[in-house]
Amino acid sequence: LMRLYGPLTSLSNVHVDVMTALVSFDRVFEVLDLKPMVAERPDARPVPDGPVTITFDDVHFRYPAAEEVSLASLESVARQDTAPSHPVLKGVSFTARPGRLVALVGPSGAGKTTITSLVSRLYDVSGGAVRLNGLDVREATLASLRDTVGVVAQDPHLFHDTIGANLRYARPGASDEELWEALRAAQIGELVESLPDGLDTVVGDRGHRLSGGEKQRLALARLLLKAPRVVVLDEATAHLDSESEAAVQQALKTALAGRTSLVIAHRLSTIREADEILVVQDGRIAERGTHDELLARGGLYAELHRTQFSSSGSPQS
Ligand code: ADP
Ligand code: MG
Repeated sequence: LMRLYGPLTSLSNVHVDVMTALVSFDRVFEVLDLKPMVAERPDARPVPDGPVTITFDDVHFRYPAAEEVSLASLESVARQDTAPSHPVLKGVSFTARPGRLVALVGPSGAGKTTITSLVSRLYDVSGGAVRLNGLDVREATLASLRDTVGVVAQDPHLFHDTIGANLRYARPGASDEELWEALRAAQIGELVESLPDGLDTVVGDRGHRLSGGEKQRLALARLLLKAPRVVVLDEATAHLDSESEAAVQQALKTALAGRTSLVIAHRLSTIREADEILVVQDGRIAERGTHDELLARGGLYAELHRTQFSSSGSPQS
């Protein structure tokens, strides 16, 4: 059991409890990249250099039972999960190549977010393997995983701190000029410029209120600063007006260009641009192909297309 706590030993339990109370774990992971469920092997190696190919090889996964891991149980309580240990992924295989965009679509609860969480080894698989440039993520150093994979969650968390500090979580030591560059590329430079305190504006729940779209663009700026080789994005469905929709799309293009991208996609505009669409259903990839191929097939994707995907300008919530 201690093995599971390895990477957290430097944090006091009190600190963990406080963070749990304040923000959900996946949000903390997004920003701080904590990895409480896994431990680094003594002989761990960095993720091999160069553009990254992600390989899922017959991946099976179930979440650790709540009684097994106290951290997981805290999370389960917060999520009000009742069945933490049923099989969630039942043989998922795919390859995401450098410079390409792979979109995950499918009904809620199908396993999309779970798939993305295995890329950065938030959890260990129960069967099969996840590889980055051929290296099993269980054999990679946690630091190199953290550097390689950048995540933008569906509803990004901002700390109650200045915009500058929130950005520097991604790259400590970044200059103001680098921050502005990232903000402009993420289509939120003008907004920050218009604030009386600029980069020193305090945001977060008790600070300057940003809209959902603005928060996502700030998270994208954070991603651009980090410039990871792999981008994992849980595309927002809610709170995007048509004006920020266009801006976010532009920011996204910048963030994803030239990287290996895995996007949980809800917007038709993103899905259409995907090099490959994986339709996830009940822990399996039920269909795969391009938008046109999948529409022509007339299966689950065609049905989702009719009923679920929001078209540009009319986001679903
Ligand atoms: P999707 O992103 O496609 O909506 P998820 O990957 O979030 O689906 O969830 C897939 C399944 O895993 C669901 O049954 C969900 O309840 C379960 N699940 C997700 N996260 C956890 C967790 N932290 N602990 C236990 N079960 C979870
Ligand atoms: Mg999800």
